[in-house]
Amino acid sequence: MEKRVRQQIPDHRIWKIYGTEYKEITKTILAAADLAGRIGDRQARIGIKPNLVVASPAQLGGTTHPEVVAGIIEYLQENGFSRIIVAEGSWVGDRTADAFDYCGYNALSEKYGVPLVDTQKEKWHEKDCAGMKLNITNIVDRIDFLINVPVMKGHCQTRMTCALKNMKGLIPNSEKSRFHRLGLHKPIAHLQKGIHQDFIVVDHICGDLDFEEGGNPVVRNCVMAATDPVLVDAYACHLMQYSVNEVPYVRMAEKLGVGTADLSRAEIIRLNTGSEEDELPRQDRILEVSYAVEEVDSCSACYGNLVHALTRLREEGLLDKLTDRIAIGQGMQGRTGRLGVGRCTENFDTCIMGCPPEPEKIYRELKEYIVKNMQ
Ligand code: SF4
Repeated sequence: MEKRVRQQIPDHRIWKIYGTEYKEITKTILAAADLAGRIGDRQARIGIKPNLVVASPAQLGGTTHPEVVAGIIEYLQENGFSRIIVAEGSWVGDRTADAFDYCGYNALSEKYGVPLVDTQKEKWHEKDCAGMKLNITNIVDRIDFLINVPVMKGHCQTRMTCALKNMKGLIPNSEKSRFHRLGLHKPIAHLQKGIHQDFIVVDHICGDLDFEEGGNPVVRNCVMAATDPVLVDAYACHLMQYSVNEVPYVRMAEKLGVGTADLSRAEIIRLNTGSEEDELPRQDRILEVSYAVEEVDSCSACYGNLVHALTRLREEGLLDKLTDRIAIGQGMQGRTGRLGVGRCTENFDTCIMGCPPEPEKIYRELKEYIVKNMQ
């Protein structure tokens, strides 16, 4: 179907605003960036894509604050736009319906009359994304202007996640698992050629710096707006003290012509100043436990749950007592060994079953395994 809005050419501006009235600061930043003027056609079908990776409240640092999305909706409705939807799909292992409910999006939908689309239930089709065939949910074709609303936060496998990786919520669950088998970074980069994000509103309020599912929020009370997802992600790397080269999909997307990772070209427009310093502490909590793991193509939920369990065991002084490495990931299917986590390692002597297994279960069974082998 023909799009009502011409594809936006990204520029190099990044707007920033600080405050604790999240709905109001979001409306202010959208007015400063002239979002209404960018969309133009009041009949345009506008899609808002938050990050609801799990059913966890935004204050824990894993999901998009509903107040930010409320600010976007109010701004759009006050400017004469009425064809608005919110589309999202949680990660494999969690139900989007639970996240919509628990994270306050059902209430949002009712208050503003904006439908929610659960992409876990959407039909999908294959699309050629710059030479890589990827499966994309059909809702993408029914959107004229896509507003991406990621949380800037850490990720147990890619170190950082922000604008580019958030598009994974618009592919079916089966494809999310396949992305891990394809190496994760390359398909994330290519996906940008199949789904064009027209505008980005970054929730930089309190993202967790280690885990995409949240749990350890680091408060910054900031909202950012931009049009170039590569530039935004390069800027997020800078704020989290990673080099862009440590997050390979950013450079890959740049090479595909999605945007620029050259921060010297960024124009940072500060609408006010925050009380917090800009840069975040670099976190290496994942690296501290990853030596105990042999990972091949694991899903984020599985690996993240394992890291949570290992962090607890390390704090209790037990991780050093583990003599076997823990196998995890889709690449372990059909293989054998001593210790594995997840259904993919069901042929291992000891398998902590689940797809993905819960962190508490992994922690409990690993602890039993370590104690038994110490005797
Ligand atoms: S068991 Fe395998 S398929 Fe299931 S979540 Fe873990 S890695 Fe993914």
